Amino acid sequence: MFDIKKILLLITILLIVACKPEQKPRLVVVISVDHFAHFVYDHYRPAFTGGFKWLEDHGTSFENAHHEHGYCATGPGHFVIGSGLHPGPAGVIGNYWYDRIQKKDVYCVEDPDAKELDIPAYSVSYDKINGTTSGDWLKAVSPEAKVYGVACKDRSSIMMSGKNPDLAVWYNWRGSFTTTDYYTETIPTWLSEFNNNLNILSYRDSIWNNAVEPSLLAEYTHADSFFGETDRFQDSTYSPVFPIGFEAEWDDAKIKNEIAGRPWMDRMTLDLAATIVRETDMGQDKTPDILNIGLSTQDLLAHYYGPFSHEVMDHLLKVDGYLMNFIDFLDQEVGLENVVFVMTADHGGLPLPEHWTHIQHKYGGRVDEEHYMATRARAYGELDSLYGTHDFIHRKGSSYFYNFSMMDSLNVEQSVVDSILQSCMESVEGVYRLYTKTELMAATPDDYRSYRLRNFMHPELSPDLYTLVEEGWLFRNPYGTSHSTPYDYDSHVPLVFSSVNTPPRQLMDSVATVDLAVTIGDLLGVEPLNRVDGKSLLPLLISE
Ligand SMILES: [Zn+2]
Repeated sequence: MFDIKKILLLITILLIVACKPEQKPRLVVVISVDHFAHFVYDHYRPAFTGGFKWLEDHGTSFENAHHEHGYCATGPGHFVIGSGLHPGPAGVIGNYWYDRIQKKDVYCVEDPDAKELDIPAYSVSYDKINGTTSGDWLKAVSPEAKVYGVACKDRSSIMMSGKNPDLAVWYNWRGSFTTTDYYTETIPTWLSEFNNNLNILSYRDSIWNNAVEPSLLAEYTHADSFFGETDRFQDSTYSPVFPIGFEAEWDDAKIKNEIAGRPWMDRMTLDLAATIVRETDMGQDKTPDILNIGLSTQDLLAHYYGPFSHEVMDHLLKVDGYLMNFIDFLDQEVGLENVVFVMTADHGGLPLPEHWTHIQHKYGGRVDEEHYMATRARAYGELDSLYGTHDFIHRKGSSYFYNFSMMDSLNVEQSVVDSILQSCMESVEGVYRLYTKTELMAATPDDYRSYRLRNFMHPELSPDLYTLVEEGWLFRNPYGTSHSTPYDYDSHVPLVFSSVNTPPRQLMDSVATVDLAVTIGDLLGVEPLNRVDGKSLLPLLISE
């Protein structure tokens, strides 16, 4: 078996880098489009003419790739993409969560020791993360290899880039791309210059117009004014439509924040990625380099407008064009025969519930907040009448953390608390189940919901009762949509491996996003530095 594997690996490298049979790719570019479900990618595929199309036309597309964890969100998703590990056991149990050991809310990449340099930044890094990434594995054997990360969101750039990159940069939501002293002692000159030329405030009078042909809009989207979309501009009368500008009364800070929700942010991110390649000579020598790119704006727009909106279609077609420019740039700078691309997403998302129900005619909706709160008050009331209090519960969102020492002293039985909360809260329409942690930790593959949630559980940190909504249901009210569940619309994402000499191919094998980093490691001939959950997809990439 070992010999066969080695031979397969050699053939793969020969195939993928056909022009340089003795060499590994000089540059691996990982592109994560935030909140880009497979069904959304598939829906717009025929309309793409730029970078998405190039990647498909020169790539092997895994049509059945899933995030095999339950709480699909940006921090955990990018952690998986970078590390090849499921997020739960590693302790990446959300973007933000209640840390029951520290007794406080925490952020997935927070690091009190990481300090801002001369560009404002929050205290963030990969330092407290329990894992390593494909970039770390590469740097361990080739310290001269270059590993960079860039995204609008700090957690995207940080999670993909790992413990030991040359640099991870991200937008600080205050007008600049930045980093912390975890990564560098001084801000590189090229980053300062890039920021000096950004001039975010010059966008104040810019209007985001829809550039998609009306016939394409009619074919791919619902009406521009669609109930359920969030109105982000001139909202005195509910009118979630183009054009979208910046309100005259918004101050500078608001403009610098809002720019993340305009297509230009993803263009800036790709411009910065190109700057990194040019300024650091990525892909210029035989030692492979890894560039991680997170395109975050799609997440904000999908949350606001839903995937079938004019806004999202226009944005995706713009990104399609920006990506083609970036690929052309790499051709000039590095030569596409030296580059391998991987395109995926950190998670998908539910369509607007109004689209799900009224257009797709499926069961779903928004959980009625008032009824939900009243029901929880009733459950707490039952606990109060039994035990005189319910203060032994710490609640964060719809997750419940028990204070077991207080419960012991009050002779509170966990099973009674579980069943009161379960019977009350599961009676609310749209709530599927309140799982106990014990139940999820023991989940088996016959129930994909609880099995995916298991990969999100940490034995100590996770809540004792975890709420899952019904498929098609959402807590968000009254507008917009979201993600977080183990259902396919959240977990099923694109996964495309591309290089200039690869013929287009679609594979239906069931694969997982934990396989991505392991495959990059295999392609570059480097071993993970720790146990991983994923497996290499190279044998599938070269299969007949
Ligand atoms: Zn999101």
